[in-house]
Formats: sequence, C-alpha cells, structure tokens
Amino acid sequence: MNQELEDRLKRVGINPTAMRLLVFEEIINSNKAINFYELEQKFDKVERSTLYRTLKVFEDKHLIHPISDGTGSVKYAVCKKDCNCKPEELHVHFFCTKCEVTYCLNDIPIPKVILKDNYTVETATYLLKGICPSCYKV
Ligand SMILES: [Zn+2]
Ligand SMILES: [Zn+2]
Repeated sequence: MNQELEDRLKRVGINPTAMRLLVFEEIINSNKAINFYELEQKFDKVERSTLYRTLKVFEDKHLIHPISDGTGSVKYAVCKKDCNCKPEELHVHFFCTKCEVTYCLNDIPIPKVILKDNYTVETATYLLKGICPSCYKV
C-alpha cells in the first residue's frame, strides 16, 4: 500500500483503512474531477453508503473538494497538500463542453472580489466553460 497516501490520511486525522486508501488513490490517479457515479463503477462491490461516507470524511478534512460544473452531479478532485479550502486558497475550474471533463486549474487562484459593506466570504466557486486542450487538438 502506498505509504505517501497513508501518511496524508493520517496527517489530517483520518484512520487509513484499506477502503479509504483505495478510494483516495482512485481520486488522485484520475487526473480529472470524478463524480460519484464514476467512482461507484470502480467500486461496484462496495456499498453506496460506505462510498458516500468515505467521500464525506475526505471532504470534511479537505483532502478533496466538490465541484459543481452544471452537469447535475457533483465532481470531486484532490486538494493540494495542506489545503484548508479557504477562499484565498481556491482555484479556478474549467469545464470542457465537448468531453464534459472538469479540470482543476490549480495554478490559477480565484480572482479576489472586493465587496462593500459587511459581507463575509466563506467559500467561492469560479467555473470557466469552453474547449479543453485535448479537444482543441482534434
Ligand atoms: Zn475536452
Ligand atoms: Zn479543483
């Protein structure tokens, strides 16, 4: 079993069970955001509720973040190491309208919006839609 993944789970206080490691590995290895249905296909022996709870634990500990891209099903992608999902840590997402893949543009932070009055920002989503590099080539 991958020691690095195990350490990462332990660091945020998650007991690294075999099941959790497998799910986390799967999300890390898919280099695009993955939705519940796709995960379910890969773990078809695993109970739905178990998979759901696993994702919830990961999300609460900021190992993964949910992305709503308008497809109707939430997708998940791995957070950067030591991410707390604070507004200033969040990045832009890109949804390809052709292949319907959602990408994390980890290097592009969400632009800061200056708000008047006493609005307190807790989280933010920034989604760009268009054609991704692999669809552009075709
Ligand atoms: Zn594409
Ligand atoms: Zn992301």
